Amino acid sequence: MYTETTHDYIVVGAGSAGCVLANRLSASGRHSVLVLEAGGTDLTPYVQLPIGYGKTYYDERVNWKYLTEPEKQLNGRQSYWPRGKVLGGSSSINAMVYVRGHNRDYQEWGAAADGWGWSDVEPVFKRMESWRGELDERRGTTGPLPVTDISSMAHPLCNAYLEAAEQLQIPFNKDYNAGVMEGASHYQITTDKGFRASSARAYLRPAMRRSNVTIRTKAHVRRIHLSNMKASGVEYAINGEVRIARARADIVLCAGAVNTPQLLQLSGIGPRGVLSAAGVELLHELPSVGRHLSDHLGADIVCRTSVPTLNQQLGTWSGKVQAALQFAAGGRGPLSMSLNQAGGFVRTHKDSQGPDLQLYFSPVSYTRAPPGTRPLISPDPFPGFLIGFNPCKPTSQGSVHIRCSDPQRAPLIQPNYLDTEHDRALMMAGMQLMRELTAAPAFQSIIEAEVYPGDSVQSDEQIMQFIKDNSWTVFHPCCTCRMGTDPTSSVVDSKLRVHGIEALRVADASVFPTIPTGNTNAPSIMVGERASDLILQDAP
Ligand SMILES: Cc1cc2nc3c(=O)[nH]c(=O)nc-3n(C[C@H](O)[C@H](O)[C@H](O)COP(=O)(O)OP(=O)(O)OC[C@H]3O[C@@H](n4cnc5c(N)ncnc54)[C@H](O)[C@@H]3O)c2cc1C
Repeated sequence: MYTETTHDYIVVGAGSAGCVLANRLSASGRHSVLVLEAGGTDLTPYVQLPIGYGKTYYDERVNWKYLTEPEKQLNGRQSYWPRGKVLGGSSSINAMVYVRGHNRDYQEWGAAADGWGWSDVEPVFKRMESWRGELDERRGTTGPLPVTDISSMAHPLCNAYLEAAEQLQIPFNKDYNAGVMEGASHYQITTDKGFRASSARAYLRPAMRRSNVTIRTKAHVRRIHLSNMKASGVEYAINGEVRIARARADIVLCAGAVNTPQLLQLSGIGPRGVLSAAGVELLHELPSVGRHLSDHLGADIVCRTSVPTLNQQLGTWSGKVQAALQFAAGGRGPLSMSLNQAGGFVRTHKDSQGPDLQLYFSPVSYTRAPPGTRPLISPDPFPGFLIGFNPCKPTSQGSVHIRCSDPQRAPLIQPNYLDTEHDRALMMAGMQLMRELTAAPAFQSIIEAEVYPGDSVQSDEQIMQFIKDNSWTVFHPCCTCRMGTDPTSSVVDSKLRVHGIEALRVADASVFPTIPTGNTNAPSIMVGERASDLILQDAP
């Protein structure tokens, strides 16, 4: 009835982590690897050019375009969650900021699971990077993932931000990925000669040339088949046909923090109540599948300036032509950059163990329109910039649960943003810091007005109301199949094996034991690297 194929390994999802596995597991030539990806090709200008971010943000050809449930603390708003549905996954549509994370993140990981402490993961970060910046023994220079130092190319307005930070005693930090994270910095970004360096470009494309790698795009995995508590096959839909693939060794789920728990639940692995409500037969009870969802929530301020910003360049035809010429002349200029060109990490509370706020500075201001109402993130018509923040280690936790047994139906996402006093207090501290920064002399000389939230928002109540009405995801969902030793409070063990199921592993942002201090692409790629080592150690 079904077409069946057999491979040594099956990787479900060619995202940040999945592309790494496709490469590393096939590198020796001894193992055959099948990669199943629900999305299509990444060879489109909007994915390859960093500036395409504004386009892919709402583009259903490359994006799952999820919506959360209405959030109580966000005044009943639903949060729009873009996730990559394309080769490279979310690394093909993200803002490219490259952050390894803080030592304490990996102390937490190491406490949850053996082999994931800072001393275990630091060499992995080093081997995966190809750092194009000032040489430092703590940075890797020969890995597959290009990381660009944009300090010499950043918009001049970033200097006003760095100066304002300095005026607030936030010192300049040249490299937040080399030891000390705190301070104000230019961001490092995953680009290669001006093009986006997604995980697909860095890892998958070299693997595609190998005869032992098979990649199926537009292949939507529906569920994992189990027999005697062993993963026996993957059921997927492609071109209107349902097929089965079998693995001699492991099936590795790399479908991301939303779709991996969804797939486990659709396969009968998860919390009893959720599966029973969805009409899915419980085959293996694992209460934490889809629980402990963590994400960064951010807010920002828009200021109008007396000096031109990128709004003028990106908002006019002559500016666009100039930007195209800059790109053509050597992969430089705004087309080759992230919107977030500077930022940093600060500690605002004396009891915090490390930085508690991450900062972002964009020399362009824009409005995120709700999906469907406008196709692009468009620059504002006036000269302006955007400055924002998010708490680094939010303590609110949510869930991802299936609604029914239909694999095509999006799961129910409940982030529970701002559920804890800790998170609400840090959002207030963040807004206060934004206002202190924009009041610093370096900014005051160029700011004409705070456009958003504006002068009318002053009291604590008004600021909290603004946060509830306007805060947004920073796109870092994780921890929904977290690592740990206890099968009631975690989903995979320290070797990323699903508790109680043979031959089934998970490797993506869902296995993070705790949310990292910074952005999540680098840690996801690191998980893909570590997963490959662990799987190959056990290779038959
Ligand atoms: C808009 C945006 C901006 C971001 N900006 C940054 C940033 O600047 N810096 C940073 O570090 N991080 C950023 N992130 C976050 C970062 O990109 C993610 O944390 C990271 O890519 C997650 O990697 P992953 O491997 O867990 O999942 P993903 O990369 O999302 O990969 C999952 C893959 O699995 C596929 N898949 C899912 N379900 C199925 C199925 N049923 N069958 C087959 N395939 C399936 C998906 O299509 C996808 O390709 C951003 C994310 C977004 C969306």
